Amino acid sequence: MSDQNFESEIPQQSWVLSYEDLESFLRPGADEERLSFLGRHARPGNCAHDYPFVHRILDVVLAGHGYRIVRCISCDESLFVQKIPREQAGPMSPGVPLELRGMQLRSWVEHEAGIPESDGPDEEAVDWNFWLNYGTGAQSSA
Ligand SMILES: [Zn+2]
Repeated sequence: MSDQNFESEIPQQSWVLSYEDLESFLRPGADEERLSFLGRHARPGNCAHDYPFVHRILDVVLAGHGYRIVRCISCDESLFVQKIPREQAGPMSPGVPLELRGMQLRSWVEHEAGIPESDGPDEEAVDWNFWLNYGTGAQSSA
């Protein structure tokens, strides 16, 4: 369980992380401890799907490297960790909310998939509260 092994392996594969482990991983801590946590809890896993079925949750920068957390609804809403170039990591701009799950998540994906030539969410323009409340009746006030 050395950080070095994890560092060298992650560019060749994507890794799967459970929701519980992601919560632990996102807690503040030393970079080395968080990478070590990833090395111990993430397992290799592949996904060949495309956006919006695969969508970015958030990016994290640890020890000078970028890590992107994505989720795939075609893989049972599994979470994947991908190593990305540091300059591509945008930790200040969150992606699709982690708490958007199940029917609400599928509704947003269907909507997004229906937009021609969309290759990424215009995340700042998305009213995530609308989708988080989709189908619950809470969004039909206006
Ligand atoms: Zn997938």
